[in-house]
Amino acid sequence: MTRDPRYDILFEPMKIGPVTAKNRFYQVPHCTGSGWLRPRTLAGLREVKAEGGWGVVCTEYCSVHPSSDDLPYVSASLWDKGDIKAHGLMTEKVHAHGALAGVELCIGGARMPNLATREVALGVVSQPNTERNPFQTRAMDKEDIRETRRWHRNAALRAKEAGFDIVYVYATHDYLLSQFLSKTINTRTDEYGGSVENRVRLIREIIEDTKEAVGDTMAVAVRFSAETNGGGAGDGNLMPGETREMFEILGELPDLWDINISDYSYEMGLSRYVQEGSLEPYISYIKSITSKPVVSVGRFTSPDTMASQIKRGIVDFIGAARPSIADPFLPRKIEEGRPEDIRECIGCNICYTGDGKGVPVRCTQNPTMSEEWRRGWHPEKIDVRGSEAKILVVGAGPAGLECARALGQRGYRTMLAEATRELGGRVLREAKLPGLAEWGRVRDYRIQQIEKMSNVEVFRESKLTAEDVLEIGADHIVLATGSSWRADGYGNANRTGIASLGPQAQIFTPDDIMSGRLPTGPTIIFDDEHYYMGTVIAELVRAKGLPVTLVTPSDVVSEWGGYTYDRWRAKTQLLKLGVTLITAHNLMSCDGNKASISCEYSGQVQEIECQSIVLVTARIPKDALYQAILGKIDTGIENAPKSIKRIGDCEAPAIIASAVYSGHKYARELDANIDRDNPLKHDRVYFEE
Ligand code: ADP
Ligand code: SF4
Repeated sequence: MTRDPRYDILFEPMKIGPVTAKNRFYQVPHCTGSGWLRPRTLAGLREVKAEGGWGVVCTEYCSVHPSSDDLPYVSASLWDKGDIKAHGLMTEKVHAHGALAGVELCIGGARMPNLATREVALGVVSQPNTERNPFQTRAMDKEDIRETRRWHRNAALRAKEAGFDIVYVYATHDYLLSQFLSKTINTRTDEYGGSVENRVRLIREIIEDTKEAVGDTMAVAVRFSAETNGGGAGDGNLMPGETREMFEILGELPDLWDINISDYSYEMGLSRYVQEGSLEPYISYIKSITSKPVVSVGRFTSPDTMASQIKRGIVDFIGAARPSIADPFLPRKIEEGRPEDIRECIGCNICYTGDGKGVPVRCTQNPTMSEEWRRGWHPEKIDVRGSEAKILVVGAGPAGLECARALGQRGYRTMLAEATRELGGRVLREAKLPGLAEWGRVRDYRIQQIEKMSNVEVFRESKLTAEDVLEIGADHIVLATGSSWRADGYGNANRTGIASLGPQAQIFTPDDIMSGRLPTGPTIIFDDEHYYMGTVIAELVRAKGLPVTLVTPSDVVSEWGGYTYDRWRAKTQLLKLGVTLITAHNLMSCDGNKASISCEYSGQVQEIECQSIVLVTARIPKDALYQAILGKIDTGIENAPKSIKRIGDCEAPAIIASAVYSGHKYARELDANIDRDNPLKHDRVYFEE
């Protein structure tokens, strides 16, 4: 197939200073949780993007010197010769597929506490660490400024040696250079503070240093915020003001502008709050100021939106982090005239949890992310079947759907049986909750792929018993029957459940809510799961007009949501809706009129009005079918299946990404020789000087 001519514009080569990108698909810098710690994992991950057609593939933020150390958040680094070798792995692979490699040099300032290196952080002034570590920066004197410029210049030279084509000056997201820009933070009285001209001075000098050092062969890009720089931002804040003046000074200096806004929670907004292309109102003025090419992001997955952004002169390059994680082959699929095969990002930000937790990035939609090198998984290719075996997958939630899809792709004869009429399991149900509609893409992509496979048969409205399963006579049986939410309060804070929820109290679980059984009267949402379900249900129940109190044993609302950037937005949303939030309290009892909750620290008990309680605590794996089949096999039957396995929530309830991964892993490993002692290659830092 050939591509639709409407998208030709996306495939035009584009000059960036001394280099040329083969097309307009630009993977902007994004964290991977691997950085300098796992160089081979990283090179494998970046390679598939280049192979998938991205014209430019960048690193994550890359520290120029040990005084910019962000551990436990894993960045890249270009401190020494070992780093040059490590990056060389990536640039070589990226070049092999005809893409340009970019590196985002970064100077930490007050954002980086240097916990590992114990260097004193340098700041525009002496200020507290913005990540709330109890370390202040040293206010930079002239010598520090000279040294910082030298470190950045040397890192650019090392970047050149490592084979990069594009080098960044990173002047946003609250790192050092953006703090120099800020009127509020930069209270210096020397030539680096005060007027706009003075506050952009260091950035201007660093752009000029970089150009002078490597600009003959490398493009110099600047990452900059289109609205307020140096802290404080947000949607609804369309005030370019001084930022516009800064652009007018710097506009023609770099070879490319990488434009975003300084509020991460909007820039990489969850689909729960932020739609595709939402940065446009903030960035649309940039091209009227500079003649240099502009790239920006917007969780773009629709080629029509992409082409429209370019045709309307908003950007020159389609920037992507998450869409390139969910589908590294997005450009190739558009080029090959099959955009319907794109595995669209769902905007859940599970990928971002890798950064906060310091582990390799994972993706809900793309189970192969970070597994390219260590498990040899490719996002598009998979080994052909290892036998003529016939497989039965029971349950068509994310685990079962992905398992059947990947087995089908391998060429196995696969049967997928689902109890209900509609496929999708938990994503079908959860996508109907407020703000979670895009999660349905997990199901849509897989159903759409399965429908093309003649070797995968789908049986809807087929609730199977152990007898049914065995009668089918499949060689391998996979149970993907999911989990159900607990109604007994069992969870982290109550390891034996909550016994004293009296008979008058109306108890609900998220399953009830998703089935349309709703609370009445004043309602407590008891969130002992700490992710999105508690706040989403609070929002839903409040929207029905009921008084709602969210009670959680954690010190914060949606604690784990902090890793996906959900926590703060969810809290703001609930407060705006008038939901009462009570943290650090456990639920003790309820008599149908009042509930008792106790402080996790003092034990002090308080009573609140409450008729209904929604328990969001833990789930029970639905593995009764698995146990029943095992029971039958144990009694000795003819033609017993060769294997029977649980996957997804039925094995161990977890996030949707884990269910998809589990289904994929099963399909990859069937009939494969897996070394159970060493199932994956162990990446480590070791590069001789
Ligand atoms: P996961 O997240 O692990 O994919 P889900 O809960 O999303 O799990 O999906 C499980 C699916 O399994 C649901 O769609 C459910 O209807 C289906 N299911 C459960 N038990 C049976 C059964 N006995 N026969 C067929 N389908 C079943
Ligand atoms: Fe998109 Fe979620 Fe994958 Fe991140 S984890 S790329 S947000 S689908």
